[in-house]
Amino acid sequence: SGQVTVGELAKLMHKQASEIIKFLFLLGNMATINTVLDDENIELVGMEFGIEVHKENIVEEFNFEEMEEDEDPSKLESRPPVVTIMGHVDHGKTTLLDTIRKTKVTEGEFGGITQHIGAYQVEVNGRKVTFLDTPGHEAFTAMRARGAKVTDVTIIVVAADDGVMPQTKEAVDHAKAAGVPIIVAVNKMDKEGANPERVMSEMSELGCMPEEWGGDTIFVPVSAKTGEGVEDLLENVLVVAEVADLRANPHKNAVGTVIEAKLDKGRGSVATLLIEAGTLHASDAIVVGTAFGRVRKMTDDMGKEIKVAGPSTPVEIIGLNSVPIAGDVFKAFDSEKKARQIAEARLNVRVEEERNASSAMSLEDLARQI
Ligand code: GDP
Ligand code: MG
Repeated sequence: SGQVTVGELAKLMHKQASEIIKFLFLLGNMATINTVLDDENIELVGMEFGIEVHKENIVEEFNFEEMEEDEDPSKLESRPPVVTIMGHVDHGKTTLLDTIRKTKVTEGEFGGITQHIGAYQVEVNGRKVTFLDTPGHEAFTAMRARGAKVTDVTIIVVAADDGVMPQTKEAVDHAKAAGVPIIVAVNKMDKEGANPERVMSEMSELGCMPEEWGGDTIFVPVSAKTGEGVEDLLENVLVVAEVADLRANPHKNAVGTVIEAKLDKGRGSVATLLIEAGTLHASDAIVVGTAFGRVRKMTDDMGKEIKVAGPSTPVEIIGLNSVPIAGDVFKAFDSEKKARQIAEARLNVRVEEERNASSAMSLEDLARQI
């Protein structure tokens, strides 16, 4: 539960800690900047400074990124896997992503060219699979830095005419560190000199032993260029996803991660969000970092306007008051007021932190002010 110290409350209220300490002192309560306040004192402080402070309103969810919610197992429902493609440069990542999209997505319905939003969904045997279109390494690095695990499965592309290369090894390291299952796409099988056995043996040395050699890594020979084997690859993604038994609670406010964000001349802040749990509705109030706003328009990966989106769905939204950072966690709230309070409190804390970084204020200074 959210425990608030005098210092934190001061930040949340845009007040000096010394003002709160002085007020509590006049009430007969000795407090320091580190004193944890009870609900009654929080309310008294709020009344004194004319600010409505509901502990449950702001403080509880101030650090929503770090909150682990106890999920009622009965509310969990199966969700699509989220897949990233990694591998050495020129081994065929972009071509494979394009081929998957082309063979599985019917283009043209919404103005010809499928827009690029950094992620897309395809259907394989009637089941959805979400692909992150962002450079695998960057996405992994950003998300790992925040301790988030956005990807469920990673496809590592290895060109059969080139074999394992430095970035292949890096990709394996990233995936293993994140605990994400690996599928190896042995690419460029159409090329003369393609040597899948060599790829298998080199990958084994990195700890990815093929199933047919007694290991547990699935290798699928493909040609991203001709499309050969791509269907098989996708079916294997489903197999791995099934083993992982991916579930999320769709019956709550949406939480997820920013995949991409930019400032658009006409539309303002545009963000691609990947919903991890819950359901996002057009008009929901959300907070990301210090940005907040109501979702003014939500579109899917085809550019089609949608009103609701559930777990593992990538969506593009407009309506945030600033541009968030890729990898940031977003959360939807019941009211815009609450979203605003949280975002403003966070902005305040950030400003304060920046100020403190330049001029560190000691407790002695604080005591002298009282
Ligand atoms: P990336 O750097 O991993 O994204 O690699 P690209 O997708 O850009 O591919 C690098 C080059 O390899 C391009 O010229 C592709 O046309 C070519 N390429 C990719 N996949 C295949 C394949 O399956 N067969 C052949 N013959 N060429 C491929
Ligand atoms: Mg590429």
